[in-house]
Amino acid sequence: MSSLAATVQNIFDEPGCAKNGSKSEAERKNGCTKQLQPGSAAGGCAFDGAKVALQPFTDVAHLVHGPIACEGNSWDNRGAASSGSNLWRTAFTTDLSETDIVFGGEKRLCKAIKEIIDKCDPPAIFVYQTCIPAMIGDDINAVCKAASQRFAKPVIPINSPGFVGSKNLGNKLAGEALLDYVIGTQEPDYTTPYDINLIGEYNLSGELWQVKPLLDELGVRILSCISGDGKYREVASSHRARAAMLVCSKSMINVARKMEQRYGIPFFEGSFYGIQDSSESLRQLARLLVKRGAPTDLLGRTEAVIAREEAWAWAAIEPYKPRFEGKKALLITGGVKSWSVVAALQEAGLELVGTSVKKSTSKDKERIKELMGQDAHMIEDMTPRELYKMLKDAKADIMLSGGKSQFVALKAAMPWLDINQERCHAYMGYVGMVKLVEEIDKSLSSPMWEQLRRPAPWQALAKAMEQMQSPVAAIACDPALAETARRARKICVCNAVDLGTIEDAIYAHGLRSVAAVREHTNAVGGCCQRRIEAILVSEPSAMRQAAE
Ligand code: SF4
Repeated sequence: MSSLAATVQNIFDEPGCAKNGSKSEAERKNGCTKQLQPGSAAGGCAFDGAKVALQPFTDVAHLVHGPIACEGNSWDNRGAASSGSNLWRTAFTTDLSETDIVFGGEKRLCKAIKEIIDKCDPPAIFVYQTCIPAMIGDDINAVCKAASQRFAKPVIPINSPGFVGSKNLGNKLAGEALLDYVIGTQEPDYTTPYDINLIGEYNLSGELWQVKPLLDELGVRILSCISGDGKYREVASSHRARAAMLVCSKSMINVARKMEQRYGIPFFEGSFYGIQDSSESLRQLARLLVKRGAPTDLLGRTEAVIAREEAWAWAAIEPYKPRFEGKKALLITGGVKSWSVVAALQEAGLELVGTSVKKSTSKDKERIKELMGQDAHMIEDMTPRELYKMLKDAKADIMLSGGKSQFVALKAAMPWLDINQERCHAYMGYVGMVKLVEEIDKSLSSPMWEQLRRPAPWQALAKAMEQMQSPVAAIACDPALAETARRARKICVCNAVDLGTIEDAIYAHGLRSVAAVREHTNAVGGCCQRRIEAILVSEPSAMRQAAE
């Protein structure tokens, strides 16, 4: 078994993953990749997953060993933010060509590493394996090892070629590379009893900076954030933290569990989305730190900060609650913790009509049931057609989702808010919760939706034209046709005698009674008696006048 295959198998056996735990040994060997259905999209590859998980390390050069399209596919596709270096956003690739495929790409990789060191001198280079060099047998582990020794610089192989599996597997392979080559390789300048790691936190739109001031106020230091706004030196020395918070368990559970096993760093799974979840996470961090030797006054100070922030946040969202009364939301998240966002939306006074659970763990689903009730509408997979129908039938007033589903909402002319990794606004912490409420309100009350739902001018014109071309419109426009249609109206349905026949008989013979009409026409005069009487007393029609 190659070392990559062994690592992949090891991930499938991850005891921290509830999904793995519920599988048989044979099922675990098959991994988590599901057979695609016709019409579905495949999502990102394992390389893409590794790149997404590690690219937020801001001072690292991320070198993609493969054809240029792999880098184009994965470059900067998450809205993470940096407080310092911008090197992470520079795209580096070996841009393999046909010649490299024939003769091998290892020399080219070595040259690329040297060029990056000469031009940028980063603290480390992450080298990502992709499908083509993996298939032609380029040994990036050996190249990185040789380059590290030659240039006296950490050159880290991220062995996650696209073909090994899903994007999520790539997230975990990225974590394995950190555990194997980075974490524990350096020492921090100093340590404190308040040092923590945040694992699986990506600082989307800079949202971590909305929570960091509160941690600073409590004296809690983020020794390392893996990987949002992360620095190489910080993650290399993260093994000295006292406690850890796991933000995205789906992508980095293996990192948190193995750091606990290797370095004794306890962790909990928490969230900074929503008021109560933010408070609970601060509380749990304080408790873990105190357990690991931090002074106990941290607990009281944390409660004081929570009380102040909660009071501010509840007061700030109160004016929106009457505006949200009776409003229903549909939540389709990709990566963000669904249960946490459900709680946040309920805090804002919205009713949840459904939430996606495609990327949720079984623990997450239990939490959603606790919040939304046992009958919660949990959507494993919903086609765009079903989403559209749900919105169009007004089962929801707003959809919160990622960019991929935005066009479904726009087509249904329903309000939509971006809540996934590409979003422009930061929703973390107390400040983020107020921002989320503001943005939902803006989206719900935008005058755009009413205008969008009105028929376009050309649609009104088309309807009028259609009406003009209908048989009814043709009859209305032509008096002769109209008269023919009038005379064709059935008076005696039993014997199929029309109005024209009866009128002609009345005027030809000067008839004055129903019995006389019965005598001169085939009309029965039973159930049609009233109608014949009405004709006998009616005003002369144009035809009668003409006949007279
Ligand atoms: S599937 Fe392979 S070739 Fe395609 S982007 Fe991923 S690594 Fe590159």
